[in-house]
Amino acid sequence: MRLYRGMVTRLYTHPVYLEHITPSGHPERPDRLRAIERVLDDEAFSALDRVEAPPGDEATILYAHPQGHLAHVRAAIPKSGMTRIDADTVASPKSWQAALTAIGAANAAVDDVFEGRADNVFVASRPPGHHAEKTTAMGFCLFNNAAIAARHAQKKHGAERVAIVDWDVHHGNGTQDIFWDDASVLYCSTHQMPLYPGTGAKDETGAGNIVNAPLSPNTGSDLFREAFSSRVLPALDAFAPDLVIVSAGFDAHHRDPLAEINLEEDDFDWATGKLMERAARHANGRLVSLLEGGYDLHGLAFSVAAHVGRLMKG
Ligand SMILES: [Zn+2]
Repeated sequence: MRLYRGMVTRLYTHPVYLEHITPSGHPERPDRLRAIERVLDDEAFSALDRVEAPPGDEATILYAHPQGHLAHVRAAIPKSGMTRIDADTVASPKSWQAALTAIGAANAAVDDVFEGRADNVFVASRPPGHHAEKTTAMGFCLFNNAAIAARHAQKKHGAERVAIVDWDVHHGNGTQDIFWDDASVLYCSTHQMPLYPGTGAKDETGAGNIVNAPLSPNTGSDLFREAFSSRVLPALDAFAPDLVIVSAGFDAHHRDPLAEINLEEDDFDWATGKLMERAARHANGRLVSLLEGGYDLHGLAFSVAAHVGRLMKG
């Protein structure tokens, strides 16, 4: 039995995240969070600082989206049953509260690392966020949690430079869209290409603040680590962020049904350690990790365990 201890690592989650309902057979389902809860129930994680996610502040949605998008999503929330916002993005009666509470947790995590309540934070929330563009909910995402949290760090805590590192197997088109011409936020992504949503080529560089590292199908640990080491980590060192936000999707795991990248749990442990080194070097250790994708329950749960275990060990 290895007890993880060393850093103060906070975990936010909330029962309402289970009430964002998707149709039977939809990969982005409440059981994902149940699988994460089960694996983090192990005694090895007893030192986690578990806190119920606070309600989000609706006004912070406007940090990354115009009022019209907020109104569009709110109008799509059904009184009963489900509505489709796009081909694979669904809303149920509690989706508004779930989405707002996901934003609440992301912003609270930023407050925690700036105000010294935690060294780092993992947010286990649904719905995810990185596909949500300024004006478009898509790819299971309603609002862009990571983008809102980055702006929150700038507005409330005076962060000058925020880095978002996205290792979800899909490109975070939404985050790229929101920060396309904003050099105060660095967006780095490793993702399979070709794959949904189709963006994320190397030559998409925004204001010099977008670093895409596309990976071919069947990429394994070695090439992933090579791409991360040669593109993502040097960009972080050059940028010297005040805060590192991780768009932590675990669908690059070899068991995942939505993609063909073959990572192991150990790769998420490794990548987490590398980001913690950079956070320690530039950002006083401040690191906030937000759950994005990951659709094989076993692959997701054990990858999250590796990630959170590393956050706790330091
Ligand atoms: Zn994904």
